[in-house]
Amino acid sequence: MPATVLEQVKAELLDYRGSGISVLEMSHRSSEFARIAEQSQLQLRQLLAVDDDWKVLFLQGGASSQFSLLAMNLAGKGYAEHIITGHWSKRAFQEATAIASARIAASSEQQDYRDIPAAAEWRLDDASAYVHITTNETIHGVAYQDIPQLDMPLVADMSSDFLSRPIDINRFSLIYAGAQKNAGPAGLTYVLIKRSLLEQVPAGLPSMFDYRLLAAKKSMLNTPPVFSWYVASLVLDWVTNSGGMEKMQQLALKRSALLYSIITESGFYQNSVAENARSRMNVVFRLQNPELEVKFLQQAAQAGMIGLKGHRSIGGLRASLYNAMPVSEVETLVEFMREFERQHG
Ligand code: PMP
Repeated sequence: MPATVLEQVKAELLDYRGSGISVLEMSHRSSEFARIAEQSQLQLRQLLAVDDDWKVLFLQGGASSQFSLLAMNLAGKGYAEHIITGHWSKRAFQEATAIASARIAASSEQQDYRDIPAAAEWRLDDASAYVHITTNETIHGVAYQDIPQLDMPLVADMSSDFLSRPIDINRFSLIYAGAQKNAGPAGLTYVLIKRSLLEQVPAGLPSMFDYRLLAAKKSMLNTPPVFSWYVASLVLDWVTNSGGMEKMQQLALKRSALLYSIITESGFYQNSVAENARSRMNVVFRLQNPELEVKFLQQAAQAGMIGLKGHRSIGGLRASLYNAMPVSEVETLVEFMREFERQHG
């Protein structure tokens, strides 16, 4: 979370801009919240150059809920084609299989998720409903550097690289992302969906799972998470005022390059992801033995650096470098890594 956003939340917590109440106490039907909702919608549309052909939803339930909602709303009678590139794309596939005829069009699982399968090799059926990708694999540190141009609807889980780089919105038909990495606090999920897709939503879905209804009710079919939405609106302002998508990309490249260069140079730290598929958000690395990794984490914590443990499903180490991370903090980590290598290499 950007420090200035936290400061602003603190300053406005008890009395939101002279309204006499906290956002925590505010009705989602109040004029104050209507403004927050409208502004954040506009801000996000501007940041990603999303036009009126799209609906922008602010939902609850995390990206995980969307794994199922997508299939309910969009699969129809066709296949949901999934590209498996790591933990999260596999989870999306597993959830979709409970709802629709989902199948795997390409997978890098046999290669331990070291690369992204080339789009030319995806086995897609023209009659399929959509193709699902995960643009950044948060756990495996793998990302699409280029988004393929397909002849069928492309659906993307962008939870961990949303708002980290400019995107060509025309390549996609639906984009979703949990807000909690680059784009707000936990509790809010962004869903951007092309209007033309909404027309295919089948009748009879439970209301809260029906994209068409959620869009018609401006994401307020029930009480939305007003506080998360408000904090997200401040983060969207921050991204805009910090220079928008180009600037976020520049910073992401700078932060990740600092880490990848020490990993590549040293031989002491290892990352096995193909160079053109390396994530700019989550840099995963390992040391020769697990005991040394434990020592690394202990000494890093003593130096004030926490959250460097790899995900429990694969172990190792991981530095997550989201938008709000100052470049200077990555430089501090790199210095620490050099010193640790000097002592233990
Ligand atoms: N997809 C990706 C790429 C993720 O990183 C995560 C969470 N880290 C999820 C989906 C699940 O998100 P949530 O916890 O918001 O359901």
